Amino acid sequence: MQVFHGERREQEIDIVLSDRQQEARPKGEGLTPYQGKKRCFGEYKCPKCKRKWMSGNSWANMGQECIKCHINVYPHKQRPLEKPDGLDVSDQSKEHPQHLCEKCKVLGYYCRRVQ
Ligand SMILES: [Zn+2]
Ligand SMILES: [Zn+2]
Repeated sequence: MQVFHGERREQEIDIVLSDRQQEARPKGEGLTPYQGKKRCFGEYKCPKCKRKWMSGNSWANMGQECIKCHINVYPHKQRPLEKPDGLDVSDQSKEHPQHLCEKCKVLGYYCRRVQ
């Protein structure tokens, strides 16, 4: 008499859950309202001395130092330069304070040279 042993299934099926954690956010920290790659127009306000300034050399996730407090300030408002409204023109005549601009410091040269 033949005894049939039950089928042996010793394969352990490991269900590898692909729990890829897709980050909804891009890697950028999102420190600024603008998250593009280009230069834009930014408005800054120092939280310490309340000094306000504007710059046509504003970048995503880059701040500018307050000339008085020497703290890095991120722009609270940013908009693309594509729409010239006169404000950027005035900025071009002004000297860009490279020693205060985080982007310039990171690059090691005048950030306006970036296309
Ligand atoms: Zn300040
Ligand atoms: Zn700069």
